[in-house]
Amino acid sequence: MRCPFCQSEDTRVSDSRESDSGETVRRRRVCQACSERYTTYERVELHLPQVVKSDGKKEKFNEQKLRDGFAVSLQKRPIDQAQIETAVQRLLRKFSFSGEDEIDAEQIGLAVMDELRGLDEVAYVRFASVYRRFQDLDEFNELVQKLKDVLPGESTKPTKTAKLTILPKKRNQRS
Ligand SMILES: [Zn+2]
Repeated sequence: MRCPFCQSEDTRVSDSRESDSGETVRRRRVCQACSERYTTYERVELHLPQVVKSDGKKEKFNEQKLRDGFAVSLQKRPIDQAQIETAVQRLLRKFSFSGEDEIDAEQIGLAVMDELRGLDEVAYVRFASVYRRFQDLDEFNELVQKLKDVLPGESTKPTKTAKLTILPKKRNQRS
C-alpha cells in the first residue's frame, strides 16, 4: 500500500483491528521512508446476485434498501445499529455465497423476515404484516417504501395500519 504522502512502497502495518460487525479491518500504517502514519480499511467485496422481480424484470441488488428494511421495521425498538449491520452482513454473505447470478425479490423479503424474527418480535410482526398484505409488491424497494408509509416517523401505533390501502391482486403468478 503506497504511502499517500511520499508515494514510497516501503510501509509497515503498526496495528490491525476488525470493526465490531467484523465487516471491515482497519489498519494503521507507518511509512518507513517519511515516517508519516495513515489508516487503511479493508473489506470483502461480495458478488451479489441480480434481483428478479415477479414481472421478470431485473435490477441491481440494492444493499441500502436491505438496510432500510431493517431500520424501518426496527424503529423505536431496543436493537442497535451494530445488530442491524450484523444481520445485513449475514444476509449479504448468504446471497453472495449462494453462487447464484439471480435471486427472486420475494426471496429477499422472506430472508429479511427470517432475520427479524430472530432479532425482535415486534419488528418481525410489523414486517410480516406488511409483507403479507402486499404480496403483490414485486419489488423489495416498494415493500420498504410501504413499511415507511405504515410506520411514519414517531408513531408506530397499530391504528396506523387502518390507513393501508389495498392494492390490486397479483397480476401474474410465478410458478
Ligand atoms: Zn511516506
